[in-house]
Amino acid sequence: RDKDKGGVSISFYEPGMEEAAKRRAMIESELRSALIDERVEPYFQPIIDLETGEVIGFEALARCRASDGSLLMPDEFIPIAEQSGLISRLFLQVLKKGCLVLRHKPPHMTMAINLSSLQLSDDWLAEQILAILTETGVAPGRLEVEITETALVANFEAAHAMVTKLKRQGIRISLDDFGTGYSSLRHLSELPFDKLKIDKSFVARLGNDEASDTIVRTVTTLAHNLGLKVTAEGIEDDAHVSFLQGIGCEYGQGFLYGRPAEASRRRVTEDAANEDYEEAEAFPTSSR
Ligand code: C2E
Ligand code: MG
Ligand code: MG
Ligand code: MG
Repeated sequence: RDKDKGGVSISFYEPGMEEAAKRRAMIESELRSALIDERVEPYFQPIIDLETGEVIGFEALARCRASDGSLLMPDEFIPIAEQSGLISRLFLQVLKKGCLVLRHKPPHMTMAINLSSLQLSDDWLAEQILAILTETGVAPGRLEVEITETALVANFEAAHAMVTKLKRQGIRISLDDFGTGYSSLRHLSELPFDKLKIDKSFVARLGNDEASDTIVRTVTTLAHNLGLKVTAEGIEDDAHVSFLQGIGCEYGQGFLYGRPAEASRRRVTEDAANEDYEEAEAFPTSSR
């Protein structure tokens, strides 16, 4: 800092640093109390079969309702949850609430949920997931666990063990944010992934630059050759859809079809479980 001002510079202070530290502490304490009060919850974004336009399922994306009523977003609180040892509890709360919604959906519908790289070496995770599936009556085949390409590369051995364990239980696995993490063909072919999700940064540039078109087409072909289905993330307009349909990309997700939204909060009163939610009205069963 302040190199051109001449003097010795050993300042650890940057303007805004104190503010950032305060905000971080605030988020951590909000998260702690939200986990206790069960104010961490999934928002649901539909995933569409690009050929038929049908909703095949949804991704559960974590949101945290702060004590002042404002909504905290995962890009901010997930890293803090990871650093403060709260990520596993957060995941389980989102999973449980998501399953309570999923069980009222048609049985062909699936739910995707995001795993943190820190959870890859959690020895209890598979058992905890299965316990929630059993408790909520959701078949394991309806759950899709998303692991980012970055997490895979950073912890290949742990990812390998976790994916193998979850697959044995009948849970499906997607490789998320593909194209941002520099995995190798070995990474891809040695793990039994079901789906590959092309990162939204590539989808956003479709039609604007030839490189993105080529990348998306090539990645889709590669995935198909490895026996994986492909989901394109971040679909925002019809031109994206035509391109993706043209290259045989199976599934899509994006603001064009629906933003992540809350499930209906109406309680299913006749049900014994008082935390049970009725139909999530947030997303339709067809995109057209
Ligand atoms: P992700 O798993 O790649 O999820 C997709 C993100 O893209 C979501 O952001 C979603 O709102 C956004 N998105 C979807 N369609 C569009 C589109 O058409 N345009 C644009 N610009 N964005 C779109 P969100 O909900 O803010 O989540 C951000 C990230 O936070 C997720 O990326 C995921 O990595 C992480 N995350 C969310 N929930 C959880 C969770 O429960 N556990 C963990 N470990 N990570 C989570
Ligand atoms: Mg995801
Ligand atoms: Mg993603
Ligand atoms: Mg992402």
